[in-house]
Amino acid sequence: MTNADIIGLTTKHVANTYGRFPIAIVRGKGTRVWDADGREYLDFTSGLAVCNLGHCHPKVVAAIKEQAEKLIHISNLYHIETQSLLAKALTENSFGDRVFFCNSGAEANESAIKLARKYFSNKGLPRYQVLTMEQSFHGRTMAALAATGQKKYQAGFEPLLEKFIHVPFNDIEAAKRTINPSTAAVMIEPIQGEGGVNVPSVQYMKELREVCTKAGVLLMFDEVQVGVGRTGTLFAYENFGVTPDIMTLAKGLAGGVAIGAMIATEEVAAAFVPGTHASTFGGNPIATAAGLAALKAVLEDGVLENCKKVGAYLEGRLNGLKSKYSFIKEVRGKGLILGMELEEGIKAGEIVKDCLSKGLLLNCVGDKVLRFIPALIVTEKEVDEMLATLVPSLEAAAGRV
Ligand SMILES: *Cc1c(COP(=O)(O)O)cnc(C)c1O
Repeated sequence: MTNADIIGLTTKHVANTYGRFPIAIVRGKGTRVWDADGREYLDFTSGLAVCNLGHCHPKVVAAIKEQAEKLIHISNLYHIETQSLLAKALTENSFGDRVFFCNSGAEANESAIKLARKYFSNKGLPRYQVLTMEQSFHGRTMAALAATGQKKYQAGFEPLLEKFIHVPFNDIEAAKRTINPSTAAVMIEPIQGEGGVNVPSVQYMKELREVCTKAGVLLMFDEVQVGVGRTGTLFAYENFGVTPDIMTLAKGLAGGVAIGAMIATEEVAAAFVPGTHASTFGGNPIATAAGLAALKAVLEDGVLENCKKVGAYLEGRLNGLKSKYSFIKEVRGKGLILGMELEEGIKAGEIVKDCLSKGLLLNCVGDKVLRFIPALIVTEKEVDEMLATLVPSLEAAAGRV
């Protein structure tokens, strides 16, 4: 099939929920992908922070193939070998003691919210409210949508699930003022992805931990986008020297296969017992075999070191552009999630389109922030290649204002 064939079918038969670019990607290898007409692209989007090891990483492919020949699905009525091993690896490498597996980021957050409510309900405490941040993104299901601090995602779906309160990000006084005896949890992305690549201060995160502990409130980190190596540490919370009570993962966890995970301390996780929560596909053999292979590669193949090194290089190059061009307002992020904020009026979306026409996949969040989320195996040479395409597009867009 050609791009045009695939676009024709999508346009006619698929729910119209995405503004898609006019190409169909049919193949990928590392940091490169190819469309149905055979054109090659350098990918700085990684399936939106999913393909952290690059496309079709050989170890992930081998794990999927091997597992597919043994057992594809069985249900959580029985114990699952790869699920038990992935849970062991995740808890041994994080603050957490127990993992609930599901299939997406939104589902992992739903699980976290349900666990927080159940935890306090078991104690007979009337705590049910969840504090989240303005500009946050937690997913599209009803509780995750209510948790999300951006009106544009919620419009038309009201009434939203009750008892979610949004406070300004990185503002400890606002959190202190708002936490009250009915607050169950504070949910926060350690770096906001969808909201514009916003990094809180270390001091804020430390104080937030203290405030939650003092008030008896659970602290939940949504690491769906920034977990599993994206910031240069296995988990983003390691950058702040604090640990949450609950953490959610999804995007980068299984090398591209759909998976979600909610990790909690023993004390909190104990609120879930047989019958309280479930997912038919959660922790299935294929997803957890892929997850195991991906996690092992992230930990053992120098992926974190490369992320730190190339992340620092990219950040340096972007800051170099910022010193040169006044229309670049700010460069921010950590490891290989970096954002470049452009002056009002310069349309990031136009730059993204222009780059696509030149063989570069790039992404923006909101109208004015370009987001760089390449595979964590990207090289400095590929960063140079990306910039050689981006810079003329940036200059042209700035010239049009
Ligand atoms: C993408 C994302 C989600 C939602 O994940 P889905 O798999 O699309 O449900 C939730 N939280 C954050 C921080 C995300 O970036």
